[in-house]
Amino acid sequence: MNIADIKLNNGKTIPQLGYGVFQVPPEETQRLVEAALEVGYRHIDTASAYQNEEGVGAAIKASGVSRDELFITTKLRNGEQHMPRQAFEQSVERLGLDHVDLYLIHWPMPTKDTYVAAWQELEKIYKERLALSIGVSNFLPDHLTRLGSETEIRPAVNQIEIHPSFAQRDVQKASRRAGIAVEAYSPLGQGGDLKAEAVQEIATRLDVTAAQVVLAWNLELGNIVIPKSSTKERMTENLGAAKVSLTKDDMLALGALEAGDRTGMDPNSFDAPQE
Ligand code: NDP
Repeated sequence: MNIADIKLNNGKTIPQLGYGVFQVPPEETQRLVEAALEVGYRHIDTASAYQNEEGVGAAIKASGVSRDELFITTKLRNGEQHMPRQAFEQSVERLGLDHVDLYLIHWPMPTKDTYVAAWQELEKIYKERLALSIGVSNFLPDHLTRLGSETEIRPAVNQIEIHPSFAQRDVQKASRRAGIAVEAYSPLGQGGDLKAEAVQEIATRLDVTAAQVVLAWNLELGNIVIPKSSTKERMTENLGAAKVSLTKDDMLALGALEAGDRTGMDPNSFDAPQE
């Protein structure tokens, strides 16, 4: 499967389509990540908060895929935002790796006001080449502006919720304007966007699946996408989105599904420790 690479603002590249493991139970993670690697994924998105970094690490080890072919992302949990160095060290240890490809601040938690200090520690981790790229997740334009004025290194990526019924166009635009690559999480709307009439109509016409249409929309926008699935068939199906070409009219019809339907939490208020 030919998955495009997206170039980040530090010259590194990231495979545009990856496999996410949010809500994958720890005891199933090794098996599912091994399956994902088998069907062709080379980019895995985990987080300390998902409590399955060990499984991701075990799958990497068992797969025999060489480390330099893989792109591994993990994230700094909210409850550890005041101690990023220790949290990072524990993540790489659980993953069984000596570095990660991308380390993200999981949520801005503006109510706690610790993300600027956390970012400054991520900058050090980056300079030590322990994380080859650093970025943020769920950052809104104000949070990006503040990092831009108070810190040295621009985030390489902003990972945010994006699917047709919740496109966050303003956040996409602000990220791109700052040279930050946009990564779409919950790109299927956790399955919710697949039933939309426009999605079904395009899928039937192109003889592809609804999931492939929704993922192809995000890919066509230039976004990185990380769908999750717990079956090998759907993992393969989702990879197939890279081969789907949508017309301008298809893009407009999918864009018109915007409904403000957030499936996750609100970045301005979410500050739970994620234990
Ligand atoms: P997704 O939009 O990827 O949807 C996953 C759901 O869609 C599952 O129920 C899955 O079912 C179903 N599904 C997957 N493929 C298909 C298919 N081809 N046809 C029909 N249904 C399908 O939601 P997620 O929230 O899991 O987001 C993906 C990833 O994004 C996460 O795993 C995580 O890595 C990241 N993420 C990051 C967040 C952040 O705060 N930074 C927050 C949320 C997610 P099944 O498993 O049964 O196949």
